[in-house]
Amino acid sequence: MNMFAQGFLDEVYKERPVKPVVTRFPPEPNGFLHIGHAKAIAVNFGFAKYHGGKCYLRFDDTNPEAEEEKYFVAIKEMVKWLGFEPCAVTYSSDNFAKLYEKAEDLIKKDGAYVCHCGDAEIKAQRGGESHGPRFRCEHAKQPVEQNLEEFRGMRDGKYKPREAFLRMKQDIEDGNPQMWDLAAYRVLDASHHRTGDTWKIYPTYDFTHCICDSFENITHSLCTTEFILSRVSYEWLNKKLEIYEPMQREYGRLNITGTVLSKRKIAKLVNEKYVRGWDDPRLFTLIAIKRRGVPPGAILEFVNELGVTTNPTNIQLARFDQTVRKYLEVTVPRLMLVLDPIPVVIEDAEEIELDIPFYAKAPAMGSHKLKMTKTVYIERSDFREVDSKDYFRLAPEKAVGLLQVPYPIKAVSFTKDGDKVTEIRAVYVKEGKKPKTYIHWCPEGSRKVEVRIHNSLFNSDKPDDAEGGFLANINPNSEEIWSDALIESGFDEVKRRAPWPEAAGESELGKGGPESIRFQATRVAYMAVDSDSTDDKVILNRIVSLKEDSNK
Ligand code: ATP
Ligand code: MG
Ligand code: MG
Repeated sequence: MNMFAQGFLDEVYKERPVKPVVTRFPPEPNGFLHIGHAKAIAVNFGFAKYHGGKCYLRFDDTNPEAEEEKYFVAIKEMVKWLGFEPCAVTYSSDNFAKLYEKAEDLIKKDGAYVCHCGDAEIKAQRGGESHGPRFRCEHAKQPVEQNLEEFRGMRDGKYKPREAFLRMKQDIEDGNPQMWDLAAYRVLDASHHRTGDTWKIYPTYDFTHCICDSFENITHSLCTTEFILSRVSYEWLNKKLEIYEPMQREYGRLNITGTVLSKRKIAKLVNEKYVRGWDDPRLFTLIAIKRRGVPPGAILEFVNELGVTTNPTNIQLARFDQTVRKYLEVTVPRLMLVLDPIPVVIEDAEEIELDIPFYAKAPAMGSHKLKMTKTVYIERSDFREVDSKDYFRLAPEKAVGLLQVPYPIKAVSFTKDGDKVTEIRAVYVKEGKKPKTYIHWCPEGSRKVEVRIHNSLFNSDKPDDAEGGFLANINPNSEEIWSDALIESGFDEVKRRAPWPEAAGESELGKGGPESIRFQATRVAYMAVDSDSTDDKVILNRIVSLKEDSNK
């Protein structure tokens, strides 16, 4: 199944079956991208790639007040991380001079006027609260020459913000509010990230987007459905200016339930220290999903599985995790990691060297050597002081298998310090039935690591609607830390061979990243190295649990 070969996107292509296809992904550089944007990236870059065309990364930077350098950088990195190469990185602001000329053209065609109305007046002209008749203000009657002069006055700083704005002369009889003489330019007292103080006027989205699409010869301008009504003004403006006309089509947004995506809300979580930062693995910004260890290929797989239609898609977090789990299952090696170690001395054991496959079902992944020592560490939860019939792990006189070890062991005694078992003594069971269960273990000398297990950040599936607001809905146990975990030495080879998935060819950027050191900790979870790790201290994040129901 391929989302470009069928359904909505296939129809969009058939409406305009041209070559080469040219698309664009046009983020506003005013925040970090989130999982929803991954869909927009997959749709725009993917559509061009599928049709052998090209896609621009265009920063829609016409709103100087909200833009910051760090967002430009992060957005560029995320596109690359997802495996896409823009044909060029462009900026709407690079077109400020050309856009200005188009605005003068529009005025000369009697398609725009300088208006001095305030909000209340504009509202009244649009029919007001009572949806009364619509009308134009006196400014709409000004002759072209006066509009030109006043517009140049706006450019030259003769007006303060809100004293004047350029308005398109569209069609106020049209039932579509996007045709009710929208703003094209406004005066702003702001310094722009790229153009500094050169401009005192800035074009609006409605003026800029369609013209920049035209300048870049975009064939299919794909955006989300909240722009459906804007399609009419998009087409109106290019037609009026008699410039090349791209085709705008709209697809449904991707919404994830069980989390918050709004910038304002995430900023609150970050500022009030509910999370470690914008890239906290519990968040669904792309930098967070990356840090958590989710491979980019799994995100693309997720978008593709959901498909693209004109309807918004509301998806539960669990569904995303399920795709990630399926993706990791066949692409990452297995290692043994013990979260809460307890020593087991196997009295009759001698040191042996084992050869352990990284993934038994994929022999091509190879194997690694592991020395089994007389003392091994097992999970505290894999031992019981008192045995029972329906229990199949380690207990006094109960045999359990140790993964990859030739003989099962049984416990013969244990010592305690207060309530806590501090050591188990065991012996091999060299005869008898195969044990029902095999548990994971680590030998003496294994590396100590910190493991962070993240659970859902919110209790409710709809934190936005929760009583007392989303902050009142935070799960107090959203982060569990195991600071004395042990990882077997096979980790060193997994680290050396990263990025995993090895075969899927993570993009160049993924290569250096700690999060591309991924593996399945047998019987525990899928894991990846966290960016807080240092040479001396390895910190791991759980990417996803092994089974769906153990994720909370
Ligand atoms: P947000 O308010 O969530 O930041 P936005 O629409 O303001 O979203 P832009 O920076 O304008 O963000 O987004 C760039 C592109 O990504 C746009 O074409 C937009 O339609 C698309 N996009 C944003 N959110 C989603 C989403 N949830 N699903 C699909 N596409 C999205
Ligand atoms: Mg936007
Ligand atoms: Mg935005």
